[in-house]
Amino acid sequence: MNTQPEASHFINGAYVEDTAGAKIDVVYPATGEVIATVHAATPAIVDMALDAARTAQAAWAAMTGTERGRILRRAADIMRARNHDLSVLETYDTGKPYQETSVADATSGADALEYFGGLAGALTGEHIQLGEDWVYTRREPLGVCVGIGAWNYPTQIACWKGAPALACGNAVVFKPSETTPLCALKVAEILHEAGLPAGLYNVIQGMGEVGAKLVTDARVDKVSLTGSVPTGRKVYAAAAAGMKHVTMELGGKSPMIVFEDADIENAVSGAILGNFYSSGQVCSNGTRVFVHKDIKEAFLERLSERLAGAVIGDPMDPATSFGPMVSRNQLDIVLKYIETGKAEGARLVTGGAEIEGDGYFIQPTVFADVTDGMTIAREEIFGPVMAVFDFEDEADVMARANDTEFGLAAGVFTRDLARAHRVAARFEAGTCYINTYNDAPVEAPFGGVKASGVGRENSKAAIEHYSQVKSVYVRMGDVEAPF
Ligand code: NAD
Repeated sequence: MNTQPEASHFINGAYVEDTAGAKIDVVYPATGEVIATVHAATPAIVDMALDAARTAQAAWAAMTGTERGRILRRAADIMRARNHDLSVLETYDTGKPYQETSVADATSGADALEYFGGLAGALTGEHIQLGEDWVYTRREPLGVCVGIGAWNYPTQIACWKGAPALACGNAVVFKPSETTPLCALKVAEILHEAGLPAGLYNVIQGMGEVGAKLVTDARVDKVSLTGSVPTGRKVYAAAAAGMKHVTMELGGKSPMIVFEDADIENAVSGAILGNFYSSGQVCSNGTRVFVHKDIKEAFLERLSERLAGAVIGDPMDPATSFGPMVSRNQLDIVLKYIETGKAEGARLVTGGAEIEGDGYFIQPTVFADVTDGMTIAREEIFGPVMAVFDFEDEADVMARANDTEFGLAAGVFTRDLARAHRVAARFEAGTCYINTYNDAPVEAPFGGVKASGVGRENSKAAIEHYSQVKSVYVRMGDVEAPF
């Protein structure tokens, strides 16, 4: 596959290059090879993208929702038809195994395009009767929406932000992570092939500074970031200065509670999905696994057996189930956390070491006997490192599970129906799972509470974050004035 894009940016319906921008090498994480080179957006490129978006947006908003939706649904069909090639590219961009990318990336992006394409024609305002008078509301787009992506799900993030924004009549300028710049360009290509008018979905490359330029530009009405909490704080503050709308999809350190009556096999499956999928580079991962002390040893034993079955290696081989970290930098961050875990007295149950070779591979790692104050219990690692804690009492474990600045997701494994719902109600998290973990269907709202974020992606809830309501008061009689 030719992984070098035609040019770095996609603006106004066409590829655009400006080699004056800083060079960004795209590295295949499984081998360390440079597979493409792009250039960061210069101020001229940023201007071009924002102008194109601003210019195109009004005519797009004037179309009917059904017309807009038809284009999004056509794009969904094209994405599905090209799933194989898009999945291979996603694997090159991120290092995630093809076994995952072929079912979780372009497919998830297509789901978002199809879902919001379907919803576009159903968007309405309200009629509010006030005696003889009445008010009607118009659901209007925000204008130009900027999307800024993380590197773990480049296709999905480009679609999760683009699809609802476009459905609501906005134009989009999307900046992928500098680590994974390739996939969003394909999303732009497909949208335009499906009939999206030029200028409505633009992709520009660059580091944080390009993102910061977009966030502070007066032509931008909304910023949606997927990234870490520290970046979120900066972007939220910058957006506030311009009074812009925001969606913040940030990091987590989510709890998963396994009660003594849980189906251990399912709980182990949930813990594997919630810690080792995408080599642990998933924001909603349940990285704090609280296991009731009566079943702790059985849980750890079964977990170790199952982890021994992980197929680590060439991500393009469909048999491979565990790939490399996205970059040398991310691998080093994870290795440092593992050393800290050991130094602070956690018990290394399995894994813990880098796998020698050219790629950025590390073993799936489990620590047990982790206590709440340890660094690996408090900070987001964003790698395949599971921390297992003991507990005995429900009230106590609830308090401990919620004792974190984050609030993205949470899970509970139990056969006790009442307890499952009681625990879900008490979790301080945006998404909770009962007897499962990390499902993210487009039909369900997704997002965080506390430091994990603001707003929701997916579902009808996302419409609220990509549109605004205008009230129109209609008086049927004379106007009474005091003088
Ligand atoms: P990051 O915060 O380093 O970068 C995210 C994006 O922000 C990148 O595109 C980066 O270039 C840009 N950026 C950096 N500084 C900026 C600034 N000052 N202004 C504007 N843009 C700026 O995150 P990352 O390392 O790419 O991704 C990992 C993080 O993302 C983890 O914390 C993870 O939990 C989080 N994440 C959250 C979700 C979610 O939906 N909640 C999904 C995936 C990843």
